Amino acid sequence: MHRFNMSISLKLIVFKLFHKSKEEFERKFFQLDSLFVQSEGGWKWIGDEGLNFSVKGLRRLIQEAAGSVADWKYRRWKGVPGKVNLLAWRVLLDRIPSKIQLQKRNVPLVDLWCPFCGDAEETSEHIFSGCSFSCYVWSVIEQWVKAPPFLFFSVKDILEDDKDPRKGSKVEQARKVVVLSCVWCLWLERNRIVFKSCLSSRERVLREVKMWSFLWFKFRCNFPLVKWEDWVAFNL
Ligand SMILES: [Zn+2]
Repeated sequence: MHRFNMSISLKLIVFKLFHKSKEEFERKFFQLDSLFVQSEGGWKWIGDEGLNFSVKGLRRLIQEAAGSVADWKYRRWKGVPGKVNLLAWRVLLDRIPSKIQLQKRNVPLVDLWCPFCGDAEETSEHIFSGCSFSCYVWSVIEQWVKAPPFLFFSVKDILEDDKDPRKGSKVEQARKVVVLSCVWCLWLERNRIVFKSCLSSRERVLREVKMWSFLWFKFRCNFPLVKWEDWVAFNL
């Protein structure tokens, strides 16, 4: 069916990015086809300056194809508090007061560096999807919730979801609560460092994600019988 052999990992990335529908996936899949040329018995990537495939190049092309951030959708959900929905929505729209956003509004700042890693300027994209600190947290969480590896290039990949969470299975709802809790707790931790000069702690973030997601899953998603010990083992 497909005209060339994309590597399994690249297929997984493409599928994750365009998982909205089978038709959408196939349309995008064939768009990507044009980014490769056959050369010396193999396929070469032509999406970037050179002929070497790069995730950065793929990401740039996908983001260009995906349109502006304002087109991204966020579905408000009562499974988490309104403040968490609001944060997630603002993150998607790049409307949180990150240092780069504050600089655009002429707010005087000591520096523009990410308070977690100090290796990059602080944007909402970086805090939630690019930073080594948050990537570590996501990697632990994906193992905890027994999910396939999270493949994401941006906060959009993390937060945007066309599925109505209310119609999801118990496990799907639980994972959704965990993802939103993680965004919430990363932002809390960021604010602790910036405003209270605390040292960052991945363990604290992970502890808080488990605690808040448990409470919200139990009481807001209406699964009152779930027990803490089952939650921490993610046996649902
Ligand atoms: Zn960082």
